[in-house]
Amino acid sequence: MNPELEVVCPACHKKSELEHTITAQSNQNIIFVCPHCGYEKRNIETSKG
Ligand SMILES: [Zn+2]
Repeated sequence: MNPELEVVCPACHKKSELEHTITAQSNQNIIFVCPHCGYEKRNIETSKG
């Protein structure tokens, strides 16, 4: 089982694979960058199990 993790860009509303949009700068800093429009958002909320 390999669930597809997708995120929707709040700017262009396009879906992208999470692996391609999320960059972990450190243990706590996470940056979302949309590959479509270049939208960047830092410190996004992540759901931790
Ligand atoms: Zn976008």
